[in-house]
Amino acid sequence: MKLYYSDTFELPLPDNHRFPMAKYTLLRERIAAAQWQAACELRLPPAATDEELLLAHSAEYIASIKSGNMTDLQIRRIGFPWSEKMVERSRRSTGATIAAAESAIKDGISANLAGGTHHAFESSGQGYCVFNDVCVAARVIQKRFSNIQNVLVVDCDVHQGNGTAGIAKNDPHLFAFSVHCEKNYPFQKTDGDFDIALAPATKDDYYLAQLKTGMDLVFRRFKPDFVFYLAGADPFEGDRLGLLSLTKQGLRERDELVIHYCRDQELPLALSMAGGYAPQIDDIVDIHLATIEVAHHRLLRDRIGV
Ligand SMILES: [Zn+2]
Repeated sequence: MKLYYSDTFELPLPDNHRFPMAKYTLLRERIAAAQWQAACELRLPPAATDEELLLAHSAEYIASIKSGNMTDLQIRRIGFPWSEKMVERSRRSTGATIAAAESAIKDGISANLAGGTHHAFESSGQGYCVFNDVCVAARVIQKRFSNIQNVLVVDCDVHQGNGTAGIAKNDPHLFAFSVHCEKNYPFQKTDGDFDIALAPATKDDYYLAQLKTGMDLVFRRFKPDFVFYLAGADPFEGDRLGLLSLTKQGLRERDELVIHYCRDQELPLALSMAGGYAPQIDDIVDIHLATIEVAHHRLLRDRIGV
């Protein structure tokens, strides 16, 4: 399985910043140490080009991000201080999701070890999201591959994918499905094509039942040619920003549900890691690692029929 990773994912931040930036490097190290890693290939993604970004973002917005010519409020809403490195990270992370999507079309499954920046709208960023990697990548593959018309986004980050919903709003070929906590950021939701808003403290069984019902309903309404899956680590019970109460086992079962659901229909699937804010960074990395492991096992099963 091809995995896309760049050292630029780890953006230097002020000491008191709450974003767990080290998780990307730790995840790469944990994958390298896993006994199943031999079948994974770590690749450096290219940075997304302006032409690619323009498929989901306005020229004015891209120009303001590149130049840093932004208001204090715009920068505060994004949550990272502006720097050249921030621009490069945002481009690379989007490039990684594009590359993972292209690999998924060839191989079945692929992953970006970052990405899932679903709060980015066409002309604004917020909540640690600058460019919407999944929406950009969706439009890129729709353009480059004649057999990819309908693209589904299954967003299981605990926060609603409001930016994705906004970009998908008037696009009949891009379907935004989000399963999130209702009483959580973003406090003003942007309605997606299908949203499941869960109460705080929701546990494994109820979450998984809702997700399964949601997948069935979405697939009755929309016939995707490709699926992006945002496997957020923040529905975890210990997450500082999550409010849901899923265990690591529950999150693994969530990953299995989405991955098997799509692969049973032979749909190509690209993964983005999305959020995770548990106080112990190892918990976040455990959850992301399990997602990659589940995907890897499924790809192996698809290839050799085990
Ligand atoms: Zn989140």
